[in-house]
Amino acid sequence: MIKKIEHLGIAVNDIQEALSVFETLLSTSSYKEEIVESEGVKTAFLKVGESKIELLQATNESSPIAKFLEKGNKGFHHVAFEVDNIEEEIKRLTDKGFILIHQTPKEGADNKRIAFLHPKSTFGLLVELCQEKS
Ligand code: ZN
Repeated sequence: MIKKIEHLGIAVNDIQEALSVFETLLSTSSYKEEIVESEGVKTAFLKVGESKIELLQATNESSPIAKFLEKGNKGFHHVAFEVDNIEEEIKRLTDKGFILIHQTPKEGADNKRIAFLHPKSTFGLLVELCQEKS
């Protein structure tokens, strides 16, 4: 079951510069900064009520964030939905014909197991499923 919007991912060139702006915008400090080597990203999280903003900076040139920015995109990158059972959701969505980038959950930032859907399935929107590790 999909429970809520867990966070919105924002792609930036310079996470420290972006943090100072978003911390002012949201009147809060980031509660976590973390590098996810497997994804080639440095992340920072800010709370907005029950949801979060995830800032993402590439840590190398083959990072999905580096490629996203190279194409001339910036800003909004993905929406993450919190699920109660990520294996079940991957199976449910695969059975419904959605294309999953990850058929099995992988390690994400902020103590989560994650899987991305291919944006081809969702009108160009990049969707992440995430489940808190217990
Ligand atoms: Zn995310």
